[in-house]
Amino acid sequence: RAHLAAIEALNPRLNAFITVTGEQAMDAARASDARRGRGEAGPLEGIPLGVKDLFCTAGVRTTAGSKILGNFIPPYESTVTAQLLRDGAVFLGKANLDEFAMGSSNLTSAFGDVENPWKRHGQNTRLVPGGSSGGSAAAVAARLVMGATGTDTGGSIRQPAAFCGITGIKPSYGRCSRFGVVAFASSLDQAGAFARSVEDCAILLGSMAGFDPRDSTSADVAVPDFAAAVERGVKGLRIGVPREYRLDGLSTEIAALWDQGLAWLREAGAEIVEISLPHTRYALPTYYIVAPAEASSNLARYDGVRFGLRERGDDLRDLYERTRAAGFGDEVKRRIMIGTYVLSAGYYDAYYLRAQKIRALITRDFTDAFQTVDAIVTPTTPSAAFAEGENTDDPVMMYLNDVFTVTANLAGLPGMSVPAGLDGQGLPLGLQVIGRNFDEETVFAVGRAIE
Ligand code: GLN
Repeated sequence: RAHLAAIEALNPRLNAFITVTGEQAMDAARASDARRGRGEAGPLEGIPLGVKDLFCTAGVRTTAGSKILGNFIPPYESTVTAQLLRDGAVFLGKANLDEFAMGSSNLTSAFGDVENPWKRHGQNTRLVPGGSSGGSAAAVAARLVMGATGTDTGGSIRQPAAFCGITGIKPSYGRCSRFGVVAFASSLDQAGAFARSVEDCAILLGSMAGFDPRDSTSADVAVPDFAAAVERGVKGLRIGVPREYRLDGLSTEIAALWDQGLAWLREAGAEIVEISLPHTRYALPTYYIVAPAEASSNLARYDGVRFGLRERGDDLRDLYERTRAAGFGDEVKRRIMIGTYVLSAGYYDAYYLRAQKIRALITRDFTDAFQTVDAIVTPTTPSAAFAEGENTDDPVMMYLNDVFTVTANLAGLPGMSVPAGLDGQGLPLGLQVIGRNFDEETVFAVGRAIE
């Protein structure tokens, strides 16, 4: 009740939730109390959570932040949310997001912008929460829920976690099932968790993860006790610092915070090692070819025939065109056009195929680095949260936000953002921990030493 009251008080300003499941949530909470009374409490019994509105929830509208799915009520539950429910979680609502998870600021949602609960010292300017999981991050930061699900295709959990001063983990590709998660770029998409601490993230991920035969890319790998790994410590670990991430123009505050985080790790017994990830500078262009290519293919299903919005048309083709013209926003259309272009005859070899080859080189950079280090620590973002209009008119400027995060998706590696301090204006900044494939345990231990 307290959390629903907080949502009622703050959501009109923050717009963190597209749908609030008030009565249904109270029923779920009462059922949860009853289970507890019978001594049947699950590991997340009664914990109020938010769910990014990209996860299908049976009987609850799932919009993907898009007008084209504005009236879509899934008849089934995603595997990740089903597992959270199995463990006793209570969902309070569906969190706002960039349309189809395309964005870094939550300015592309068809359901309005999300406001970051943080403000610069002495200023009232509205700041973006980051994206695409901006509603989830803002809801956790503003204490509307204790945790939330997110998805991360190129940084959409880690970047909003950093902008909102909370913790967010994107696990290894294949760790969480994508069944029932609206697809953006299937070879990059991963579900993950937001919470206020590394430990809470570990507990949530433990519930969300696991093999699912309904997702052909789900990994049949045992889920370790993530929460137990949190307090493992970092003594004797080798932490890599990639020299290519010391970008020209990286703010001195972020560079200083990065050094501070490394100093904490050194004090806790880790060894700091400089490493090289030589193909880093190709990561953003590679990502912005691969992701739109897959998106253009995935989004072909929104044709006005099978589900979602349908506009009237004179014939089938006209119906498709009118539906897609009316249903998709500008950023989604831009991605579909880029993706269709890079996949088209004559350009496929020059763009898509080449991007796939570079993706393999980026992955190899990490494989090489992990021969000598156990985890990699970098800033999560090149700046703190910005105001609408500051960074947002030029799509390429917006894409630059993802410069530190897209590499982990291209290589399929686990990555987490942990709050590491405030900038001179009082805004939170995050540090990113990247681990070996399926070694979230080390990521949690290193994150715990920084938070
Ligand atoms: N900002 C990136 C994009 O717009 C990442 C989005 C995401 O991770 N879902 O593609």
